[in-house]
Amino acid sequence: MQPINETLSILTVPAFDDNYLWIIHNGQDAIVVDPGDAAAILQALGQHNLNLRAILLTHHHSDHIGGVELLVKQCNVPVYGPANDGILGINHALVDGDIVQIKDLDMQLEVIAVPGHTLGHIAYYVPEQAWLFCGDTLFAGGCGRLFEGTPAQMLHSLEKLAALPDQTSVFCAHEYTLSNLRFASAVEPNNLDLQERVTREQGKRANGLPTVPTQIKLEKLTNPFLRSKESSVIAQLLALGKITDNADAVSHFAALREWKNNFS
Ligand code: ZN
Ligand code: FE
Repeated sequence: MQPINETLSILTVPAFDDNYLWIIHNGQDAIVVDPGDAAAILQALGQHNLNLRAILLTHHHSDHIGGVELLVKQCNVPVYGPANDGILGINHALVDGDIVQIKDLDMQLEVIAVPGHTLGHIAYYVPEQAWLFCGDTLFAGGCGRLFEGTPAQMLHSLEKLAALPDQTSVFCAHEYTLSNLRFASAVEPNNLDLQERVTREQGKRANGLPTVPTQIKLEKLTNPFLRSKESSVIAQLLALGKITDNADAVSHFAALREWKNNFS
């Protein structure tokens, strides 16, 4: 285990109906991941007396990039983001395997390509802290919709994230957890870890608390989209006629995603 940089912490900035924007800071300097709303970020920076040093983006949807123009105008900071997701205004274009160095925070983030939700979507992993910022790819209890990519791409992307250390904290971009877990419970009605999780997360929401960050270990135990190869999940897909006997792993995952698209 590498030593943890204890000077770094994270602010959760809620925005719109259900987005979370993330500020990483050391009490003085800060970077922001997916600033969909500049006003919310500027307010949080002001409240905590932080200087913005960089913007990091995961994908091109407006609830993730909508605040970039104003923040750049006000703070004149570099913008890091995916090379291949059609975002204008990026001056550090990133691809899989790149390392982002943030000198002001003495931190490094590894870039992981996670196509699926969009084709150029990337995630940022901070090994020193075991933090993952994954935009709309892996959610607490679920995964992003396939707006651009294929089921095979998304399955592969999620497998890369699931391979990160168990204790990795997952900072996803939306509070979708309770509705995701309702679906998860339909997929695995007998999953005890899932049942316990539902109670726990309901308690957090009842108290107005976020359910994010989540943890890779918990996701592997309860998120159906990381469990599409489990016999319990395949048996349920079969029982409901959503796959055939000889379907392959990608078809299982595709059937699961399709089921969720139509689940309410
Ligand atoms: Zn999105
Ligand atoms: Fe989003």
